[in-house]
Amino acid sequence: MDNWVKCVDMALLNEPTISSNGVIRPTYLEVDLSCLAENYRALCDAVAPAKVMPILKANAYGHGLVAVARHMASLGAPYLGVAYLEEGIMLREAGVTTPILVMGGILGNQTPLFLAHDLTLTASSVEKLQQIDAAARQMGVRAKVHLKIDTGMERIGVHYYNAASLLEAALACEHCEVEGIYSHFANADAARLESAYTQLGRFEEVLSFYEKRGLPPPPLRHMANSGGILQMPESWFDMVRAGILLYGHYPSASAARTVAVRPCLTWKSRVVYFKVVQPNHAVSYGSAWQTDHMVRVVTIPAGYGDGYFRRMSGRAQVIIRGKRYPVVGRICMDQMMVNIEWDSAYNGDEVILLGSVGDTAVTLEEMAEWAGTIPYEVLTNINTRVPRIYVMRDT
Ligand SMILES: *Cc1c(COP(=O)(O)O)cnc(C)c1O
Repeated sequence: MDNWVKCVDMALLNEPTISSNGVIRPTYLEVDLSCLAENYRALCDAVAPAKVMPILKANAYGHGLVAVARHMASLGAPYLGVAYLEEGIMLREAGVTTPILVMGGILGNQTPLFLAHDLTLTASSVEKLQQIDAAARQMGVRAKVHLKIDTGMERIGVHYYNAASLLEAALACEHCEVEGIYSHFANADAARLESAYTQLGRFEEVLSFYEKRGLPPPPLRHMANSGGILQMPESWFDMVRAGILLYGHYPSASAARTVAVRPCLTWKSRVVYFKVVQPNHAVSYGSAWQTDHMVRVVTIPAGYGDGYFRRMSGRAQVIIRGKRYPVVGRICMDQMMVNIEWDSAYNGDEVILLGSVGDTAVTLEEMAEWAGTIPYEVLTNINTRVPRIYVMRDT
């Protein structure tokens, strides 16, 4: 038997998840840090000599921003990626010193905060780059900047056909260190990769600017997300940006599974109530589900207020004592009911909402199907009322 070390994300102590005597809410996420490390190393091996930037936006895809960031830093991640300034500041305030790229669009009044926290800025237009340069001059610091090229996503970034103006302007910035240049795929996880290769070709064309000038390109050229990592080795350049793959999931059903990764998260709860429901009695709001014979029904203290989508009513299943059972009636904000027919379950029994126990699993992919969405949204929807507990194999 492996030994496990457990700890609670201290950042969550402000949330109503832990009562004052230290008893943790029965509904929690268990995050396996050893598994995250294995996935990270598998990605590093797959794309070497390119480097891997773990993407930690949206609370590290639900796994917990600060804990995952510290773990990745301890594994030697050269760079961390987040979407928002506030996520970057949270990491700096938690003592994370690894370089952090903020990938989202920025507003002028945010620039001093970026610089004060040594966060790397995404410059997505000439105007924004010049704003950054001016702010850095004023503060007497050098801004670390990655230039963002839009090659077909139409989200942020200077269009590939206008990119020379941004690259040119960057050469003239005296208070910026342009250490990276990047672009983002819209379709690298698709079965057909024509449009992704069109984007890649546009990015390569933009990069040829440096060769034509006899200049070295910025040292960190990056483009690949999880789809690109799996399907387009030509897109790895100096670094890849690994999001969903790091957490052990594939970006789409059709993407080639060229790197083996495993899910690292289990969403657990406990039976909090047991009862027998007589025939022809309805369960939960709207009386949308009704018994036609006598059944045993247990109540679980989790609901859509935790991010367990209400849309999954009538479809979702959970695991109790190694067996899957249907959630019946409407999922409530804080509770839901499970029909165990005439099997046994007791107060305090463990319930798996997502993840596996033994060889029985509720997969993220099927949960996404029940909720009518994609795995990414299921993960990021699990909110901060659910405590994260970290476990690590003690080696
Ligand atoms: C979210 C994001 C990624 C990671 O995407 P995955 O599909 O989860 O790997 C990479 N780059 C940018 C710019 C992103 O916004």
